[in-house]
Amino acid sequence: MAESSRTDPPDPALPTQLVQANSATRALNILGDRWTLMILYLAFQRVRRFDEFQGRIGLARSLLIDRLRRLNTVGIFKKVRYQERPARDEYRLTEMGLDLYSLALSIIRWEQRWFYDPANPAHRPRHSCGKVFTPECRCGHCNELVSPRDVYVVEGPGAEFEPSPPPRAQRRSIVPAGDLNKGNPMLDRAFQVLGDRWTSHVIASAFMGRRRFNDFQNALGVAPNILSDRLTRLVDLGVLRRELYQQRPDRWEYRLTDEGRDLYPLIAELNRWGDKWLATKGPPLITYHRACGHVLEPKMTCDQCGQEATVLNVTPG
Ligand SMILES: [Zn+2]
Ligand SMILES: [Zn+2]
Repeated sequence: MAESSRTDPPDPALPTQLVQANSATRALNILGDRWTLMILYLAFQRVRRFDEFQGRIGLARSLLIDRLRRLNTVGIFKKVRYQERPARDEYRLTEMGLDLYSLALSIIRWEQRWFYDPANPAHRPRHSCGKVFTPECRCGHCNELVSPRDVYVVEGPGAEFEPSPPPRAQRRSIVPAGDLNKGNPMLDRAFQVLGDRWTSHVIASAFMGRRRFNDFQNALGVAPNILSDRLTRLVDLGVLRRELYQQRPDRWEYRLTDEGRDLYPLIAELNRWGDKWLATKGPPLITYHRACGHVLEPKMTCDQCGQEATVLNVTPG
């Protein structure tokens, strides 16, 4: 496959850098990979078997084995034997895996709002109230809609510094949308943004208020050539915009566009999931909802009836 050869140059000078821990970043270390997102998308459509995954996304066998193994190791999938002679296992979502469904809804929400395609069934989920709906992100305490301007963050019991993502060769997970999955529409736009570990980390970092090249670099421990490439990519995707903040020499900062800011429910869900499943010492950061003063516990709801939308009461379109 063409994209397999598009690997970033190795980065001999990159030291292991300590960065401030946060649950969204930890979650993205697991999920910020295009193939992983596609596998999970299919898992929520009850795809469980190797051949079926392979048939639906046309992924090389070795890559699919690798991704399934990783998801099994972190506890998102469990292997269940469904046949002896020859032995065959299928991959089922665990409780930890099923808990990613609200993240999936936050991805669907963003695509519906910015890239709605009536021909894409993924954009037409149906709630148990009977209606096709757009998910909303609300505060679990006061039930108001949550936006990034309504929250603030403080250090939690698990606050610490930890090594930046391991400097393995980062495969550029960005390919034209049409090449993604043999014409099966999924959530292609969101996968382009989130499905590359560094682009997704840059976005999470932008929500932490970072705007300048050096700030991103210090927060992420990413090599300058890779950072520069990903910032350009995110500007092209319409998630960030460049703004001149100094002349001679010209210096640019990168701000979230409206489309980018609207990714906030996704960040809130990544934090919620990471806090719950990956933060053994407690949450590294705690998000408060200004409107009610309580710790933010985001929930995804149906915009038609206002009730919570969950893996149990949503039918894919
Ligand atoms: Zn609230
Ligand atoms: Zn509903």
